[in-house]
This record gives sequence, structure tokens and C-alpha cells, in this order.
Amino acid sequence: MDGMLVIISGPSGSGKGTVVKQLNPDNGYALSISVTTRKPREGEQHGRDYFFTAEEDFHTMRQENNLLEHFFYVGNYYGTPRKYVEEQIAEGKIVVLEIEVNGALQVKEKFPSAVLIFLMPPTHSELENRLKKRGTEDAGTIEARLKQALEEVPLIHRYNYLVINDVIPEAVAKIDAIVAAERMKPTRCAAKIQDFLRS
Ligand code: 5GP
Repeated sequence: MDGMLVIISGPSGSGKGTVVKQLNPDNGYALSISVTTRKPREGEQHGRDYFFTAEEDFHTMRQENNLLEHFFYVGNYYGTPRKYVEEQIAEGKIVVLEIEVNGALQVKEKFPSAVLIFLMPPTHSELENRLKKRGTEDAGTIEARLKQALEEVPLIHRYNYLVINDVIPEAVAKIDAIVAAERMKPTRCAAKIQDFLRS
């Protein structure tokens, strides 16, 4: 099977972390783990949720071209390690990046065949409720993240799909359906076509 790259973006509080963690690795998904200079939240683990990194080390990775993309988001740097993504695609995996829009558009430039999915909560007030309920950010950070969410919305038209995340298992099923359909596009089936010709 040809590998592919799926990017899932959406405002902070859209539930993308929860949705992405429910994509089943048995279906070929491989989740990329980002590098960040943000401090870990309670319960977050280095190497599982993020690679938590000092700013100096982040900049070294960037300068050495070890990041596929990077962005400064509400006070912290975030970036996608290049090597993992390239290796997993070469192995035929569906590599999933859960990143914000600016980084997503950087990746689309480099990998035009990447599938961009925007995950949105049903309403803006629901977003606010979720962020407050999560309780991981102070009031100023919540406000900055809500503002950032509104800035992301005009960029939705650059995405290939929009999924409303109301009921989590339904959003997961929609992403599975998108990926299944994308994998049947002839342009993504070079390996299958070769197998047929050789058989
Ligand atoms: P959080 O601090 O809530 O974990 O993440 C803040 C934002 O950064 C989210 O929108 C998340 O998707 C995004 N993000 C996480 N990792 C990366 C990354 O590697 N690159 C970019 N561009 N954004 C990321």
C-alpha cells in the first residue's frame, strides 16, 4: 500500500487530540509526535504526547533541517520531526500530523498529496466551554487561543475536508471514511498497480 500523509487541524479545544488518539494503528495509522517548547500539562508524557524541548534545542533541530515544519503558536514553538514522517510514509503507513494551520500549509507545499482535514466544534461557545472545562490554561491563554481559533477559520478553504466534532466516535468514523476513499484514488495506488502488472 502507498503511504500517505493526513493532517488534522482545528482550534485548541476542538477535540482533535482525543479524536486522533482513537485512530486505530491496526488500520495503518502512525501518529507523528511533535517537538514543543511548551511546558508539559499535568498527565502529559515526554515521548507520548510531545517531545518537550528547551528552546535552544528546538532551534538547533530547525537549523539542522530536522523539522518538516514549525510554527510559533500562542507563546510556544511547535514542530514536526522530519525523519519519522518520511520513514513511516516509505513503509506504507498513514502518517497523521495533528498540527495548526500554518504548519499544515507548510507541509502541503512540500507534500502536495497530503490530505488536510479541519476539525471544528459545533459552535464557538462550545469551544470556549471545552477550553474552560479542560482547565489546563489560565484565562489569558484561553482568550489568546480563542482569538487564534477565529484567525484559523478563514484558512479552512485551503483544506480538503471539514469534519464537525460533535460526537467523537462519529468524527473518528468520518476520518476513517475520508482516508479509505483517498486510498482508492488511482494516483495513490502505484504499488497495487505494479503488483497487478507483475501478477
Ligand atoms: P497544545 O499546546 O494545545 O498541545 O497545541 C497548540 C496547537 O499547536 C494545536 O493547534 C496543535 O495542533 C498545534 N501543534 C501541535 N504540534 C504541532 C507541530 O508540530 N507543528 C505545528 N505547526 N503545530 C502543532
